[in-house]
Amino acid sequence: MTTAPPSTVSLGDRFARELPEMALPWQAEEAPDPRLLVLNEPLAAELGLDPDSLRSGEGVRLLVGDAVPDGAHPVAQAYAGHQFGGYNPRLGDGRALLLGELTGPDGQLHDLHLKGSGPTPFSRGGDGFAAVGPMLREYVISEAMHALGSPTTRALAVVATGRPVYRETALPGAVLARIASSHLRVGSFQFARSTGDVDLLRRLADMAIERHHPAAASADNRYLALYEAVVAAQASLVAQWMLVGFIHGVMNTDNTTISGETIDYGPCAFMEAVDPDTVYSSIDSGGRYRFGNQPLVIEWNLARLAEALLPLFADEQERAVEIAVEALKGFRPRYGAAWAAGMRAKLGLPEGLDDEATTALADDLLALLQAGHVDHTTFFRALGSAARGDADPARNLFLDLAGFDAWAQRWRALAPDGDAMDRVNPVYIPRNHLVEEALDAATAGDLEPLGRLLTAVTRPFEQREGLERYAAPAPEEFGAAYRTFCGT
Ligand code: AMP
Ligand code: MG
Repeated sequence: MTTAPPSTVSLGDRFARELPEMALPWQAEEAPDPRLLVLNEPLAAELGLDPDSLRSGEGVRLLVGDAVPDGAHPVAQAYAGHQFGGYNPRLGDGRALLLGELTGPDGQLHDLHLKGSGPTPFSRGGDGFAAVGPMLREYVISEAMHALGSPTTRALAVVATGRPVYRETALPGAVLARIASSHLRVGSFQFARSTGDVDLLRRLADMAIERHHPAAASADNRYLALYEAVVAAQASLVAQWMLVGFIHGVMNTDNTTISGETIDYGPCAFMEAVDPDTVYSSIDSGGRYRFGNQPLVIEWNLARLAEALLPLFADEQERAVEIAVEALKGFRPRYGAAWAAGMRAKLGLPEGLDDEATTALADDLLALLQAGHVDHTTFFRALGSAARGDADPARNLFLDLAGFDAWAQRWRALAPDGDAMDRVNPVYIPRNHLVEEALDAATAGDLEPLGRLLTAVTRPFEQREGLERYAAPAPEEFGAAYRTFCGT
């Protein structure tokens, strides 16, 4: 096996060079005793990295930022952001670093980024570190989202640092090595805009066009085309969250990407019993980021992006505002179409069925699911059997049998395809109780439950013998009262 030493991993410094105003050269804090907990071998291979050499001592030191390849210039990125609606002009990487950009075998650029790598000038009173549990949570959930077919940042590895971090108690520290198509966020644009430097804003927008939305480059108004592309990407992304029952938990503008990838898996969780008011995050006491509010929140965040881009839309402010308002109107139809298309697939219905009919049928179903406190994931998977003639697994989830029967009659009349449904309705999602179980065990040194959970959720559509408990809803105490913690 060839083992190219990690020092030969080639990392670009394009962000640092082209946007120095937003890039603070910085180093990771040395890890006293780095130990690799989990390495994503398929992802490493996709990126053209050699998994064996990443497992070596030098590879692990690269994954915590101790050994940086020649030519790389790690930086803490500056960004601003609205957190729970309140604007903070200076957030930035308070416990993270962009090591640099990897070029994949396909020529695509990917950020190699570390989370938990130590304090930076953006730490604002935080310690700059992260604990094993939350970094493994991001690993599990982002890889599950990827397997579900949703655009997301990826987790390359989690390395325990050997340094305790102090939260309510002392916890083992860790660094997550993350891959993203970039770390450009709505908050990056808010930062650039707030400097008043329109040239910086333009360079940032040009980078976003080149890296994520290259078709915008040939439009008459390229910055408007960039904005419309971000609106479309985020509309599609959040529709996917809603279809799979994902609750991000902290949809601040600094956690909203320009690429349309889900980023920053903090107090996130999957909804079990259908209820739009579901909130799991302990820091979201007002329910701003509850399940059913996510489309409205992303629209709000996109309005903040439009405000930041105003000087690029048109010279005259009034005209720029008109352009922005008009462009944001594109969000709702795009979101509605993406959601309806996804629902059509979940219900096994033909593509020709129009959005209005799909949405009416789906809304009636969701009302029944909510009234019956039915588990979202279990139901949609069971409904595939109903399409094949065995209604019991889905029907038995309801107390209101007549309500379900009446709905199912309308649905069956449309000739649903059960096998097609099985390809889009997962058996396995990272259920909250299983995630907690795996993280608790890993924190105590036992990685086996984590491995089993990953086995289930990285092939979510393939039902397998022996994994029954990974398909079952949580016990009562993990239901509506369950809370996730930010884990900062
Ligand atoms: P997040 O909730 O991970 O998206 O982080 C929001 C902001 O808080 C970012 O600016 C982070 O860098 C910062 N932050 C979160 N946790 C810490 C920490 N332990 N130390 C320093 N900064 C942090
Ligand atoms: Mg963040």
